Amino acid sequence: MRKETEVVRGYRCIDEKTGAISFPIYQSATFRHPGLNESTGYDYSRTQNPTREELEKTIAKLEGGAEGLAFSTGMAAISAVISIFKPGDHIVVSDDLYGGTYRIFEEIYGKYGIKATYVDTQDLENIKSAVNENTVALFIETPSNPIMKVTDIGAVSAYAKEKGLLTIVDNTFLTPYYQKPIALGADIVVHSATKYLGGHNDTLAGLVVTAGAELGEQIRFIQNSVGAVLAPFDSWLILRGIKTLGVRLDRQEQNAIEVANWLKSHEKVDQVYYVGLPDHPGYELSKEQTSGFGSMISFTVVDESIVSEVLGRLKLIFFAESLGGVESLMTYPLTQTHADIPEEIRERLGVNSRLLRLSVGIESSEDIIEDLQRALGGE
Ligand SMILES: *Cc1c(COP(=O)(O)O)cnc(C)c1O
Repeated sequence: MRKETEVVRGYRCIDEKTGAISFPIYQSATFRHPGLNESTGYDYSRTQNPTREELEKTIAKLEGGAEGLAFSTGMAAISAVISIFKPGDHIVVSDDLYGGTYRIFEEIYGKYGIKATYVDTQDLENIKSAVNENTVALFIETPSNPIMKVTDIGAVSAYAKEKGLLTIVDNTFLTPYYQKPIALGADIVVHSATKYLGGHNDTLAGLVVTAGAELGEQIRFIQNSVGAVLAPFDSWLILRGIKTLGVRLDRQEQNAIEVANWLKSHEKVDQVYYVGLPDHPGYELSKEQTSGFGSMISFTVVDESIVSEVLGRLKLIFFAESLGGVESLMTYPLTQTHADIPEEIRERLGVNSRLLRLSVGIESSEDIIEDLQRALGGE
């Protein structure tokens, strides 16, 4: 089955009992036992719920992993993954990444003795020099948020295997439709399904997929114990979102290529970070390890003083946090997604006061470009 079909079909796709094409929402907290020591396979919805299970098996299938797990948000998913580690453990993390991931490592798990070192994971040598005797895992975001750095998942995972470390990849930006980290050697994939998988800016959700069953069981134990599970209705919304993943992503990518090229030629735009531009440093690697470039673009304007005007003039594109949905959204990483990252790290990465991030939606690319034209004050 090709990837366009795979996303439509999901796992079981239909309800065997009734033939319902839309997988039912099992809005039940608990399940009646047929008798003592007997179970229908479902006991209590924190442990498992049929609708959530359909989503978990769907994402496991799409990512090519053994186990899938659905959480209430992307951060709950990432938190569950970090919970497999213990005090004293050390993790090497991509330095350019979602601000919330930085915050959870520093402000939450740091307190419990789990340490993180942030390096530019584009260069394997940086990872090698950060690894010490306490290192247990590598946490990679690729393409990274918001500078769109591309990390070689195959090379990093091969090195991690050699050292006995786990490789964890945040696959939010590309989804399994474009990038399959497990096939490249990763052990765990995490997602904010709030973004492309859901795709409609209407649901918060997080997903984890493990390559092996044992790691899956470990995280399932945490999921059931801590309880940040995805509700049945929200599971259904993500399942529905995944059905159109292919058409949405292909359209969004096509739009993003046009928008990125247009931005590049604009006099008020300085740098354009988009992995689908041939002069992007990660372009060749992306062509090797992914089947698409996605639709996240960051760019800097020539002067900080125009940022506020640009955001104020947008009409079609919404000035809002989040990404990956059908509506185009513009973010100002400095004060929104990356506010928790210390200034010196931000400056080094290029997350400065001139940087804007654009999640390109499925609208007409001409309308998106016209909106940008107006916002940048070109007319
Ligand atoms: C949004 C996001 C998260 C966090 O997910 P939530 O669903 O907002 O909790 C994690 N990683 C990346 C790359 C994200 O974009």
